[in-house]
Amino acid sequence: RAKAEGKGRWALFEAERGARQVTRHTLSTMLPRALEQDQFVVEYQPIIALGDGAGARMAAGAMVGVEALVRWRHPGLGLLPPDLFIGMAEETGQIVPLGRRVLELACRQARQWQECHPHALFVSVNLAARQTREAGLVEQVRRILDETGLSPDLLQLELTESAFMGTADEPLRVLRGLAEMGVRIAIDDFGTGYSNLAYLRRLPVHTLKLAGPFVEGFHSARDADPGDEEIVQTLVTLAHTLRLTVTAEGVETPMQAERLRAAACDSAQGFLFAPPLTAEEITQRILTRSAGSDRTSSSPTQAA
Ligand code: C2E
Ligand code: MG
Ligand code: MG
Ligand code: MG
Repeated sequence: RAKAEGKGRWALFEAERGARQVTRHTLSTMLPRALEQDQFVVEYQPIIALGDGAGARMAAGAMVGVEALVRWRHPGLGLLPPDLFIGMAEETGQIVPLGRRVLELACRQARQWQECHPHALFVSVNLAARQTREAGLVEQVRRILDETGLSPDLLQLELTESAFMGTADEPLRVLRGLAEMGVRIAIDDFGTGYSNLAYLRRLPVHTLKLAGPFVEGFHSARDADPGDEEIVQTLVTLAHTLRLTVTAEGVETPMQAERLRAAACDSAQGFLFAPPLTAEEITQRILTRSAGSDRTSSSPTQAA
């Protein structure tokens, strides 16, 4: 019986694998139409400041920015996560129009939040390496900022280290052009690639996003690999020496947040604070929070 079950499972596995392959190909042919029909939506994950005293406010969410994360709302297949289509879109070059679309949506949304948030919220948008090899990227970003009216310093662009590898100097020119405009650059998933710190000095980078694996080691006091804490502390110190800020990703437990704060990490995002949320949900959080702080500032006697 076990054998039959095993066989059945294998057949299922094969079918699934087949479906995935078909889907991959099908998705790639469906993507242009999906762009035309506005099937891409952006969710936003809060980025929380970890500064002194943030502890008490953390649950309420001292949100300083959001990361824009694309989803494909497919009419038949439902909400598809980026891992299903970003890689494929990079291979086919479709990432270029898709990336532009995400940038437009995120900047337009951030501009709206700029109007209702007392301390303007930055939006951090992921860029594929392929996009930085497009000479027109700087102009594209400039045009989107002009059209939406978003301040350049409220836009951050996230790139993985692979975008800077190799010998091409187009990415470097593009990065400099973006930085000159006042847009901030972040290195995404720092610590999963080469993590070559030397090149950071030559690049107009503003933020390091510390990848999950480092943060995971901070899970509990007992399990912690003693090396992790020192590595994170060293990275944060080095980043600060280079005048970079550090955002930790994938923070899931209070212990991780506590240790990151102890290491002077500037900000964090993760399920502990909030999953990626819809634009409406972020707006709701902004309104609730600013209503809260209005109350505090308009009745100072109550606190005394
Ligand atoms: P990323 O940029 O490193 O984004 C962080 C991912 O971690 C997101 O997955 C997010 O939902 C997830 N995450 C957030 N908090 C936690 C946590 O506490 N624990 C864990 N385990 N995961 C957490 P998502 O949304 O599925 O995106 C996956 C990747 O797809 C992103 O990784 C990014 O590389 C790529 N991506 C997303 N949107 C875009 C886009 O518009 N353009 C490009 N080029 N890539 C994108
Ligand atoms: Mg990212
Ligand atoms: Mg990341
Ligand atoms: Mg990633």
